Amino acid sequence: MHARNAAITDSSNINTAIVMKTSTESAATTDLSLLGADEAPAVTVERADGASDFVLACDHAGRDIPQALDSLGLSDTELASHIAWDIGASGVARRLAERLDATLVLQPYSRLVIDCNRAPGSPESIVERSEWTHISRNENLAEAEVEARTREIFQPYHDALRDILDARQRQRRQTILVSVHSFTPSYRGAARPWHIGIMYHRDARLASELLRLLRRDERLPVGDNEPYSISDETDYTIPVHGEARGIPHVALEIRQDLIADESGQATWAGRLAKLLKQASETLGARA
Ligand SMILES: [Zn+2]
Repeated sequence: MHARNAAITDSSNINTAIVMKTSTESAATTDLSLLGADEAPAVTVERADGASDFVLACDHAGRDIPQALDSLGLSDTELASHIAWDIGASGVARRLAERLDATLVLQPYSRLVIDCNRAPGSPESIVERSEWTHISRNENLAEAEVEARTREIFQPYHDALRDILDARQRQRRQTILVSVHSFTPSYRGAARPWHIGIMYHRDARLASELLRLLRRDERLPVGDNEPYSISDETDYTIPVHGEARGIPHVALEIRQDLIADESGQATWAGRLAKLLKQASETLGARA
C-alpha cells in the first residue's frame, strides 16, 4: 500500500476538519462544506466587459487546494508539478485576453481536487493516480465528499462560463470559445515533440484554420489532435460550452517548457492573438 505516514495523519485530520452542517430546508439533508469563508472563490473572471468575440477558459489555471483537504497529502513539489495544474497556461491566457480584450474565466483550484474538464462522476473527474503519483486522499471518497467538490469547485466555474455565454447569446454577440491548456514535455517517459497542439472533435471550423496558419512556420512542430484529442469522455468544456452551443471553438495545448517563464508566455500570447484573429476573420467573425 502506498501511503506515507504523513498522508495517513493528514487523512485523519481531514475528517475532523470538514464541518458537517445540516440544511435548514430539510433536516434529512446534510451537506459537507468544503471551502472556508476566507478561501478564494472557485472561479475568477477577468475582463468581464471585454469587447472581443473571443471568450477564453482556463480549466487548469490554478493549484489551490481547499484547506479542509490538507494539501491532499501531497508534497509542495508534487503540488507545484504538472499533475496539479497546467504550468504556464494562466500566464498565456491572461496575456492573450489582454491582447484580444477578451473575457477570461479561470479555475484557481487544482485539477486534483476535481477536474473541471471532466464530467462529474466520470473516471478521471477525481483521480487516485496522476502519472506516477498516488493520491491516497482521493481514494474511497464518500458520496458527500464528491458532491461537495462538485458543488463548490466544479459548478461555480462552469456556471460562470455558462452565464457569460448565455448573456452573449441573448445579446446576439458573435462568440468564439478558446480553452487554454498546457502539457508536460515528457509523460511516463515519452518525449512529446509538439510545441503546440490544436484540439477539436465534431467542429473543426476554427481548428483547421488555425492549423493551416500555424503550419506556415515549418520549424514549428504542431500537433493535430496531439498530444490529446477532444472527446465527451475526456473533456467537458469544449463539448458542453462549445459544441453543444454550436459556436466556433478550439482547445489549445502548449508545451510547458516553452511557457514556464513570462517571456515565453508573452511570445505565445502574441503569436496566438495574431493567429486567432486571422483564423476568426476567415470564419466571418469579427475579433
Ligand atoms: Zn489542462
